[in-house]
Amino acid sequence: MFNKQLWANVSKLHFLESYPALPCPYCKSMNLKLDTESFTARKLSWQARRAYQEQFKDNELMDFANKEDNSFFKLAALVLTAADGAMYQPSQFIAFFKCGMCNENVSSTGLAKIPNNDTSVRQIKVESFNPPLPLFPLSDTTPTSINEELLSSFNHFFSDTCSSGNRLRRAVEKLCLELGYTQERNLYQNIEAMADEFPLEARWLQSLRLVGNEATHADKITEDDLLDSYKVFEVVLDIFRRKHIEPEIEKVALQLQDKFKKPHKQLSLKP
Ligand SMILES: [Zn+2]
Repeated sequence: MFNKQLWANVSKLHFLESYPALPCPYCKSMNLKLDTESFTARKLSWQARRAYQEQFKDNELMDFANKEDNSFFKLAALVLTAADGAMYQPSQFIAFFKCGMCNENVSSTGLAKIPNNDTSVRQIKVESFNPPLPLFPLSDTTPTSINEELLSSFNHFFSDTCSSGNRLRRAVEKLCLELGYTQERNLYQNIEAMADEFPLEARWLQSLRLVGNEATHADKITEDDLLDSYKVFEVVLDIFRRKHIEPEIEKVALQLQDKFKKPHKQLSLKP
């Protein structure tokens, strides 16, 4: 099941030495750990910091820095502005995560906050994992076109909530396509057409469509909105798991019925 707490935690600024274990994209086990030996950081130059600040200019940088929130923009703003107090070196970092189960490696990049007087309490905010980490296990029963959009959404989650939400909307579109609901004029109507067959899922997909619309047109979705959306989407994808497994289950259930069904006794009517 989707672990919202874990990912909310990963999207925050985190101490390097106590970084949580993550799911490995290769073997799927929860054994992907930050290899602190591989951590390398370089101080952001004045120019690089300005470039970051330019990137966030439209997002009211200073406002964000003063609010308690963990969205990427706000965190980046916090890292950059904290440096003004000369307490920290705002840096960019690269580091590897290594899987304790299959030994595969995942690279990561992002922002680091390194105190000037004590480098043992370094904090990092990962902006990107390569290859991307699945925020929930992607099943083989889900059509590839949907999994690809989801992976792309996961990939953007740590650095750009709007792009991530936009990919999520595309995953909803692909889902309609894969189920054959493409006859209507727009996504809203295609999902409505699905309601006869999948009433609950259709209602849930309408909520995800609204998140996707907001991400595409208004830039106002948060990491928390995305995490809630993933939680819903994972369960909607049960449609494909059920479709895949139902013929087999039907066969087995009928076999059990044939084996154990007792013939009904004839009722004898006595005078
Ligand atoms: Zn692994």
